[in-house]
Amino acid sequence: MSVQKRIGLYPGTFDPITLGHMDIIERSAGLVDHLIIGVSNNPSKKPLFSIEERIDMVQRETAHLAAEKGVTLEVRSFDCLMMTFVEQIGASVILRGLRAVSDFEYEFQMTAMNYQLNPNVETVFLMADPSLQAIASRLVKEIAIYDGEISKFVTSTVREDVLVKLGKK
Ligand code: ADP
Repeated sequence: MSVQKRIGLYPGTFDPITLGHMDIIERSAGLVDHLIIGVSNNPSKKPLFSIEERIDMVQRETAHLAAEKGVTLEVRSFDCLMMTFVEQIGASVILRGLRAVSDFEYEFQMTAMNYQLNPNVETVFLMADPSLQAIASRLVKEIAIYDGEISKFVTSTVREDVLVKLGKK
């Protein structure tokens, strides 16, 4: 009997990748055999970093995890409907992080819609680590724009990338 590999998708914008994202990626890696981090290429969100830059950043920040967690990891961009991407990559699980109540309403609705599109794919929510749950890419960018310190929210290399991008270095 062949054992099918469980493929999971963790989708997001990652503009930029934060310690909150990293925590969800680490924990997700323990739940699947192959984890695909899907970087959404949705120009209407007007991201600070280009799709190539975000992919490079996510790849660089997560490279150490494959060996540590005994999974295979892949970073890919997608610009189609998420459920179409899920089917293309053969994922059976979508992983999402859940922060405050504010995330819940949106995630609840999206999960229900995705279930209608493909009931064979489960969405699994990981509760945010309480010490990281306030972290949001949007706020990291806002704090950096106003010269605030972001070292508690992103790795030192991502901090460097943000400061360079904003012309502060
Ligand atoms: P999106 O455009 O899908 O909101 P994000 O990059 O903001 O993309 O987030 C991707 C996923 O990571 C979402 O499931 C989001 O809830 C989760 N996430 C973001 N920040 C955190 C955090 N600090 N702790 C836990 N999960 C988080």
